[in-house]
Amino acid sequence: MIPSAVVARRPQRVTVLGSTGSIGVNTLDVLSQHPERFEVYALTAHQQIDKLFEQCVRFQPRVAVVPHAEAAHRLQAALDKAGCRTQVVLGEAGLCAVAADAAVDTVVAAIVGAAGLRPTMAAVDAGKRLLLANKEALVMAGGLFIQAAERSGAQVLPVDSEHNAIFQCLPNPLSSLNQAGVKRILLTGSGGPFRLLPLEQLPFVTAEQACKHPNWAMGRKISVDSASMMNKGLEFIEACWLFNAQPSEIDVLLHPQSIIHSMVEYQDGSVLAQMGQPDMRTPIAHCLAWPERMRSGVAGLDFLTLGALEFAAPCQARYPALGLAKAAMRDGGLAPAALNAANEIAVEAFLQGRINFVHIAELVDAVMQSWRNTEPDALEEVYAADLSAREAALWHLSKMRQ
Ligand code: NAD
Ligand code: MG
Repeated sequence: MIPSAVVARRPQRVTVLGSTGSIGVNTLDVLSQHPERFEVYALTAHQQIDKLFEQCVRFQPRVAVVPHAEAAHRLQAALDKAGCRTQVVLGEAGLCAVAADAAVDTVVAAIVGAAGLRPTMAAVDAGKRLLLANKEALVMAGGLFIQAAERSGAQVLPVDSEHNAIFQCLPNPLSSLNQAGVKRILLTGSGGPFRLLPLEQLPFVTAEQACKHPNWAMGRKISVDSASMMNKGLEFIEACWLFNAQPSEIDVLLHPQSIIHSMVEYQDGSVLAQMGQPDMRTPIAHCLAWPERMRSGVAGLDFLTLGALEFAAPCQARYPALGLAKAAMRDGGLAPAALNAANEIAVEAFLQGRINFVHIAELVDAVMQSWRNTEPDALEEVYAADLSAREAALWHLSKMRQ
């Protein structure tokens, strides 16, 4: 699903879905360095309306999207008072509208979780240049997503640092991995904050500890996913779809320093790696400028102070979530959507202190054990699967807590 190069000639109008989050803020940082190349068309937020107000005053988007009427009235009044001409719209319909608007060239999909699926698909259906951070959308609806992009001509560019690295290490255009002489993709992951913790202490780690990633500053959900390596599992599924790879063509490798962001091994023995600081502004700037390059604000690597780069195999006992995700991808159909939904319930319950860290993978496993898999023909079936897996997860959760 790799796009071929088309060079933009005028300032690009950009919608940032989830502009108040970690990826959203990093995107605005990069955009602010290139006012001559980009114009912010729309910004969206779910909870941090005050932060969205500040972003609107600074970037003067034409539209801002908030979840409900009370927030919309409050934000519109504040913006009017500040002399800002941004128009505030509402809810999922508003998100889809700013993703698909004919005036928009580029959509940055940076909403977290299943909530991002419909607006991301709206951008895909409208044939936009899509900068994909919201991996859950692709995990949930992989086949439908790729078919829709092929139909509409949407350019899907991976923001996720590993996939962005792989994209940079593959030829473009890419016909198939096999024809390109690729032997395997090496998807790297740091192993998160609990890589060296004695296994028996895992049930006692706190949400704050799980959210303190050793190398990356990220939102809370993806930080917990990184600690469990469910994030790497979701990325495994994401890579299969983006690069049309078989599960057997991707190996996951621990690399605690997060300096190499992933690699591609070719049949002649060459291995291409993309390296850089662990800073999301690099992949964001790469996608925004692609096929050109532009400044991101990220410093280069100082090889003289870098130290050793280490690699190891991920341990199944420490990271059972990774195996669950790989199995879901091998099963195909709606299994990845069910896995994602169960994981969202489990992570939320962990963040609320209702279950312990080890329970996250146990809960997902329990849902997947009884999952009756089918192949979806439409997005509504994905939503039905998502709902049914959430209900199953909540049922298992209530049993766990008795
Ligand atoms: P975050 O929690 O920091 O931000 C999430 C954004 O989504 C916020 O703007 C929030 O307002 C919005 N949002 C949350 N729930 C919503 C809902 N129900 N409806 C509409 N909007 C909603 O998350 P993040 O770390 O920026 O991650 C965003 C996405 O990017 C995730 O899918 C994550 O997996 C992916 N990603 C993040 C990073 C990173 O470094 N943070 C790296 C790679 C991929
Ligand atoms: Mg990643």
